[in-house]
Amino acid sequence: MSEKIVCSVVVPLYNEEEVILETYNRLKKVMDSLNETYEIIFVNDGSKDKTAQIANEICNKDKTVKLVDFARNFGHQTAITAGMDFSEGECVVVIDADLQDPPELIPKMMEKWREGYDVVYGKRASRKGETFFKKFTAKVFYRFLRSMTDVDIPVDTGDFRLIDRKVCEALKMVNERNRYIRGIISWLGFKQIGIEFHRDKRFAGETKYPLKKMIKFALDAITSFSYKPLKLASYVGMILSVASFVYLLIVLYTKLFMPHVTQSGWASIIAVNLLFNGITLMILGIIGEYIGRIYDEAKGRPLYIVRQTKNFSEEKSDKIT
Ligand code: UDP
Ligand code: MG
Repeated sequence: MSEKIVCSVVVPLYNEEEVILETYNRLKKVMDSLNETYEIIFVNDGSKDKTAQIANEICNKDKTVKLVDFARNFGHQTAITAGMDFSEGECVVVIDADLQDPPELIPKMMEKWREGYDVVYGKRASRKGETFFKKFTAKVFYRFLRSMTDVDIPVDTGDFRLIDRKVCEALKMVNERNRYIRGIISWLGFKQIGIEFHRDKRFAGETKYPLKKMIKFALDAITSFSYKPLKLASYVGMILSVASFVYLLIVLYTKLFMPHVTQSGWASIIAVNLLFNGITLMILGIIGEYIGRIYDEAKGRPLYIVRQTKNFSEEKSDKIT
């Protein structure tokens, strides 16, 4: 059990019964061709289908495959975190289970790693089989996020990446909840490089990121890396104050010097009232997003709860975070 593992591959799984076997086969083929020691870590993120069962069966047959089984669904980013926590390899590769990220890119990533890069991320040159809505929102999101923060987070980049052991250890020290891992890895620094790839369509099944999760994900990213939205209140407040002062002058002027013009009432009052209430509530909502996250941090609950693990060394499986 003392042989050093060179590469750990972390695969988060949420209801992926249709793809897990194919993913395993393709990963296995690529990893075997490398002639390096490796481990594949499946993190079952509280799947409701047969994912856990199939993963268990694979683990029984193949001891290079390990399983971290969550007590419930904790989310994609948390599943990746757990995989990294349990990994032992000198480098760690994170890859989606649906084969949208080609496992065949891993040897190239490792080549770059051997050249001395600490982080090698996959940059999506194109995306196949995704709706216009998904591609459009993703494009806008990555650019918007970039404009909001000072951290240099590469655009059009998912979690498909290789990181060196020292980056993985550094990441473990960043213990925040509601995490946006790609951002945190950029924030860490280190020597980073991107390689382009063409993102395939899902091998089977459907996306596990419905609109609700996409919005939460985007909010996590923005709130973790920028407090610019909080400044919105002061900017909007200032603009509105100036505008209302100018309007006040106009009203006074008309009243004093243009007596033939009557000031109209009710409808405009209601309209302005609704508008201003809307803006106030929106800003309160933004503040609420931050407060909710502070609350999560303050409670200090563990990031995830593990139900069982498989094929890990004793020392690792004793670990409950
Ligand atoms: N995933 C997860 N937990 C979740 C949602 C997704 O572990 O709550 C995993 C999922 O099984 C997949 C990866 O995260 O391996 C990416 O999800 P998906 O392919 O559905 O996202 P998309 O590619 O559509 O953005
Ligand atoms: Mg996918």
